[in-house]
Amino acid sequence: MGLFGTMPGISGSIEVVCGPMFSGKTEELIRRVKRAQIARQKVQIFKPAIDNRYHETEVVSHSSISTPATPVNSAVEILQKVFDSTRVVAIDEVQFFDESISIVVEKLARRGVRVIMAGLDQDFKGLPFGPMASLLAIADSVDKIHAICTVCGAPATKTFRKNPKESAQVLVGETDLYEARCRSHADFFGEDQDQLAFFVNLNDSRSKTQNL
Ligand SMILES: [Zn+2]
Repeated sequence: MGLFGTMPGISGSIEVVCGPMFSGKTEELIRRVKRAQIARQKVQIFKPAIDNRYHETEVVSHSSISTPATPVNSAVEILQKVFDSTRVVAIDEVQFFDESISIVVEKLARRGVRVIMAGLDQDFKGLPFGPMASLLAIADSVDKIHAICTVCGAPATKTFRKNPKESAQVLVGETDLYEARCRSHADFFGEDQDQLAFFVNLNDSRSKTQNL
């Protein structure tokens, strides 16, 4: 046993399961946790204290599969609460943490811990949600899973907010607030604005080229 209880020859890893709401991310997280438990590995599950939709101390999927979880107020709190004997750390709703979560999971992986995270890759505007862009970059494995578009039934990669006037990025809610949509039915900005942005960028890069 080395420092932090790391066994020689056993290396940690970072896994991300991401996708829109209603894609089954939490089910997938729980599935991996259950398999690790069957293999008799010590697992600890965390979730941000902000996500209290269903239960304070459990991870609950939309289909009501649940498993006990420790709510934490910050990424660093995870480090403080992981036991030396823990082999697997699972984190649900990881998009709600700040960028320091990347440092925390790197540290855990270095200690030989397998870190499994589930989170929304994009916010309701289709932009990277919180620390997800960094987490997807540093992960050893990434699974983007799809929901079903509520308009056309195609695989959905976007979370659509029914009332876009509510502009806060974090608005914890359920089917009353959000729907899964495919790319063509989650037109966040409208084609006109997209084209406008494209031409602005084009002009920007042209003027930069001229300045060279
Ligand atoms: Zn669609």
